[in-house]
Amino acid sequence: MKPPRFRYVRPGTLDEALAALASANGEGKVIAGGQSLMPMLNFRLLSPALLVDINRIAGLDHIEEHEGGLRIGALVRHHKLETSPLVARLFPVVTAAMAHVAHLAIRNRGTIGGSITHADPAAELPMMMVLLDARVTATSARGQRVIGATDFLVAALTSDVQEDEIVTEVTLPALPAGAGWAFEEVARRSGDFALAAASVILTVENDRASHVRIAVMGVADTALRLGAAEAALLGQACDKASLDAVVAAVRQAVTPETDLHASGDYRRHLVGVLVRRAITAAWQRAKGNQNA
Ligand SMILES: Cc1cc2nc3c(=O)[nH]c(=O)nc-3n(C[C@H](O)[C@H](O)[C@H](O)COP(=O)(O)OP(=O)(O)OC[C@H]3O[C@@H](n4cnc5c(N)ncnc54)[C@H](O)[C@@H]3O)c2cc1C
Repeated sequence: MKPPRFRYVRPGTLDEALAALASANGEGKVIAGGQSLMPMLNFRLLSPALLVDINRIAGLDHIEEHEGGLRIGALVRHHKLETSPLVARLFPVVTAAMAHVAHLAIRNRGTIGGSITHADPAAELPMMMVLLDARVTATSARGQRVIGATDFLVAALTSDVQEDEIVTEVTLPALPAGAGWAFEEVARRSGDFALAAASVILTVENDRASHVRIAVMGVADTALRLGAAEAALLGQACDKASLDAVVAAVRQAVTPETDLHASGDYRRHLVGVLVRRAITAAWQRAKGNQNA
């Protein structure tokens, strides 16, 4: 299928790109890796008058350590995130998650800015954003806004980016010292979007959970942080009773839909299984960090 007609510009600076977007009066679209936008154009789900290609803009592809966390430019490709030693050292959960994103050819083109703006409910990077309390910087000719991850992901395929804004950076704050992590996903085939996935960050003191974050995807309109499930584990040991309570809270909180790939009931069951596995693995890593 072919896309509808559009004008195309490839500015060399952010200011030029923002001016081009602003001049389009809401009829403009940013194109980064094109891995989600081009299929949508080809299926004629979108018909923008202008495409603003941001690939030539310098200064949007950095991965930098910042106060123990990371600042990541919007044009950083999935494969660069997957293979970055800095990401692997500070956020190994991101390295693990990236291996599940599509196929290598797509990871070579797709960008972090494109993935989170596209906001697919079963995409790995939006879930990493909510797990890691990321902040997203959106820039326009009017100035900059910094948006928390859960506010940024509004609904399926809808993020809080205004028509004249470009996502320029994602910031990941430092994790608590000694944190254990885990990422668990089930997809029908390698490279497919997930049926469901779960990710966990936690710390352990005196064999009790002292900091807990649980995020899931594929089981609601957006990736979710599960506050009630986190509260059920906080201060508890990693035993059957507390894991059962967490899993019950997880299944209560999600609203999975039935589609061609799986029923909603199956996804609700699956996400509980994945959270249980993820907590167990993260706990072991946190204990391992204490002994290191
Ligand atoms: C066959 C296939 C399988 C896939 N499987 C997975 C998967 O398993 N997991 C997964 O997470 N993803 C998957 N993807 C999606 C892939 O990761 C995309 O690369 C990603 O979602 C979009 O990134 P992009 O840079 O290509 O964005 P684009 O396609 O260029 O843009 C996507 C949207 O974001 C907007 N946009 C892009 N960058 C910016 C910016 N900086 N500021 C403002 N708006 C912006 C565009 O206007 C558009 O609306 C798959 C894609 C394909 C084709």
